[in-house]
Amino acid sequence: MRVYNFSAGPAMLPEEVLQEAADEMLDYRGTGMSVMEMSHRSKAYDAIIKEAEKDIRELMNIPDNYKVLFLQGGASQQFAAVPMNLMKNKKAAYIITGQWAKKAYQEAKIYGDAVAVASSADKTFSYIPDCSDLDIPEDADYVYICENNTIYGTKYKTLPNTKGHTLVADVSSCFLSEPVDVTKYGVIYGGVQKNIGPAGVVIAIIREDLITDDVLPGTPTMLKWKTQADNDSLYNTPPCYGIYICGKVFKWIKKMGGLEAMKAHNEKKAKILYDFLDSSKLFKGTVEPKDRSLMNVPFVTGNEELDAKFVKEAAAAGFVNLKGHRTVGGMRASIYNAMPIEGVEKLVEFMKKFEAENG
Ligand SMILES: *Cc1c(COP(=O)(O)O)cnc(C)c1O
Repeated sequence: MRVYNFSAGPAMLPEEVLQEAADEMLDYRGTGMSVMEMSHRSKAYDAIIKEAEKDIRELMNIPDNYKVLFLQGGASQQFAAVPMNLMKNKKAAYIITGQWAKKAYQEAKIYGDAVAVASSADKTFSYIPDCSDLDIPEDADYVYICENNTIYGTKYKTLPNTKGHTLVADVSSCFLSEPVDVTKYGVIYGGVQKNIGPAGVVIAIIREDLITDDVLPGTPTMLKWKTQADNDSLYNTPPCYGIYICGKVFKWIKKMGGLEAMKAHNEKKAKILYDFLDSSKLFKGTVEPKDRSLMNVPFVTGNEELDAKFVKEAAAAGFVNLKGHRTVGGMRASIYNAMPIEGVEKLVEFMKKFEAENG
């Protein structure tokens, strides 16, 4: 029996994608082999990766002057790749809205002068700072954000005013969850294990003029975006099977109606949960309402023992992985694209019952 999996990542994937992959496991469309066993230079695989790129371009309406790269190393690898490829002046502005932004900032400091221009650390990252008029150094090579904060459950509702500087965004936990205007960014990247596919694959969407040979000295060949762009993500063996699953998820999103439909679906789910949290006497959300994420919903009872009891009883009832991040405590429900509405409705029913019994 499948459970409602509220994990922050790796996370739920659409059941029909998993079923299709299972059906094709032993013999992918008459090739007599699994995609796992296939040469990445084969005709069959070439079609898989090309189609995946075509579909994500269509979904996100990615302009022709942006490259789409399928990389490995997780989102964390890009924490280094970003400064290595972009720090021409060895300076960059970082907005610190949580652990992932902080990790990226600390990594960038190894390579140059990373400046924290705003932070929400003062209130445990429970809000997004005002980014309308930041003190961004003139010669900063880019402004960096983590657009949806997986751990703390905040999301930028408006992008920062970068004052003409290139915007770089880690979108790992909001990838393909709603429409996006790609032209506002220089680089959009994310690990796929939150909303798109199996861990290990990173998708990077990069404006072409930012892909150059002018990288920091010592940049490994593999981390140079130009290497990957010149070779259509096939410089070496890519994470073939993972990309294949991503491709299936792109098709699933298209079938569901694209990113507008995803947004409506995600808003509907999030509203069910937030409305309950706002009315509950026992549970309460931890994030400033205006900055709430549609994907990650942290909440607490205010009593650690009761939190633990809730997590345990919820798991026994088939709602798993609701424990909050180890640095925050409490609970967190991650409700990515693949989480069905019923999953959230049933969770809220369960929470109501728990409240009645423990309130
Ligand atoms: C999960 C996550 C990461 C880390 O991804 P890895 O693939 O494990 O390196 C980075 N940024 C954000 C926003 C995340 O949610």
